[in-house]
Amino acid sequence: MDRRPIIVWFRQVMRLADHPALVTAVATGQPVVPVYVLDDEAAGKWRLGGARRWWLHHSIAVLDRDLREKGAPLILRRGSTVRQLLELAEQTSATTVYATRSLEPWARTLEVELQRRLTERGIELKLFPGSTLLAPEEIHSKSGHPLTIYAAFRRAISSRDVPTPQPAPAKMPSPADLPISDRLDDWQLLPRSPDWAHGLRETWVPGEHAALARLDAFLEEGLASYHQLRDRPDLPGTSNLSPHLSNGEISLRTCWYAALMREPDAGQEAFLRELAWREYSQHLLYHRPNLAEAPCRADFRRLKWRRDETALQAWRKGGTGYPMVDAGMRQLWSIGWMHNRVRMVTASFLTKHLLLPWQVGEEWFWDTLVDADLASNAVNWQWVAGSGADAAPFFRIFNPVKQGETFDPEGAYVRRWVPELAELPARYIHAPWQAPDVEREQAGVILGKDYPPPIVDHAAARARALAAFDAMR
Ligand SMILES: Cc1cc2nc3c(=O)[nH]c(=O)nc-3n(C[C@H](O)[C@H](O)[C@H](O)COP(=O)(O)OP(=O)(O)OC[C@H]3O[C@@H](n4cnc5c(N)ncnc54)[C@H](O)[C@@H]3O)c2cc1C
Repeated sequence: MDRRPIIVWFRQVMRLADHPALVTAVATGQPVVPVYVLDDEAAGKWRLGGARRWWLHHSIAVLDRDLREKGAPLILRRGSTVRQLLELAEQTSATTVYATRSLEPWARTLEVELQRRLTERGIELKLFPGSTLLAPEEIHSKSGHPLTIYAAFRRAISSRDVPTPQPAPAKMPSPADLPISDRLDDWQLLPRSPDWAHGLRETWVPGEHAALARLDAFLEEGLASYHQLRDRPDLPGTSNLSPHLSNGEISLRTCWYAALMREPDAGQEAFLRELAWREYSQHLLYHRPNLAEAPCRADFRRLKWRRDETALQAWRKGGTGYPMVDAGMRQLWSIGWMHNRVRMVTASFLTKHLLLPWQVGEEWFWDTLVDADLASNAVNWQWVAGSGADAAPFFRIFNPVKQGETFDPEGAYVRRWVPELAELPARYIHAPWQAPDVEREQAGVILGKDYPPPIVDHAAARARALAAFDAMR
């Protein structure tokens, strides 16, 4: 038997279960060398943002512990992936590198370069599925074209067999001489001065075990009512699996199958529909590599977006004077996550009320979300902005007050994240400027001092956005 080790390059898959590259490597019986390379340069503009870096630190720590228990510690390297993997292959005498295929454009470019450079040295790179339900080549129209409309995409997935998830390997042999590894702390992925991560620490437990436990808890407690509660940011109605999925600690297939094995009902159907949105986003990014930068609809290139640093800053910091928007932006800043309904409201507010380009919102989310995912972020920003392949029409402009009244009827969500409004009665909490002076006084809210008045008037901002849209057409 070949005793040369196989390098298993961990990329966006940070787990042992349902990890085809790892399972196949272990099945050969050869020793394995698991490695993670932090290559900010290759990722360029899409290097991991602050919140994902915090998550990555903890995710790596858990992964390394789990791999050690199985027999093969995680080797950490920083810098050029090509250089690091070539060096590692030389040091370990490995002639094969196994990895999970990525659908992100910068990572695909890297794969091509790596393939070329490894081949020159007689080393083979084998890429495996692992981040999606199905390969993008498997889903297409009858004429062989990519499916860009979500409903058709969803139907196509239902008609295919999604491969079942694979269990984690029982143990992993590693070579007698281990190559040297960086120290995780030296990577300085955690924020220090200032340390802004206390909200993240209090909210999240990164790692594969926590991901699987979260899935189990959601299936028991949340799935049955998911379709009814998923739009309510004031209630714990969604799975909170997104950071685990985006960080590769649990596979989409594992979530998909776990839900599919349940009794079919409206909760299951709704949850599978959302998982399919994630898959759809990945496939769309694969077919449109510039999705994160350029509008899918070409006419949107002509839209006259505004530039307004003051308004942008007010949006980022949760100081727009619209409580539902501010609550969302502060939730994001505090815990690195925002409820989906509020993501839509805040994104609509940025692109329509403020008429600022969706890309600046996308970048802020990229830096602050623990679940930041290139494909999901881009698809959803374009969906809200109206420029997406399958998007909400631009003229559908969320009224942030009505959204608040409908989806946070008692104002519990706003009270939690905008505590200066906590004492306002529910009927005014989403529009404090409409409260009679005496009500505001009793609640201890002075507009302009404790909480800002609205930075734009809803009706005027709506008219401005529609005029810009008409001019574009
Ligand atoms: C402007 C905007 C930006 C977004 N950026 C991201 C992002 O960077 N990363 C990210 O994972 N999600 C993003 N989303 C989608 C969605 O908001 C989150 O996936 C969801 O809120 C995560 O919470 P959850 O795990 O409790 O979701 P659940 O409601 O429990 O859904 C289960 C899973 O389905 C997937 N999912 C649900 N909704 C969507 C969706 N609209 N698009 C794609 N996948 C979905 C997620 O993986 C999620 O974990 C964005 C949405 C908007 C409107």
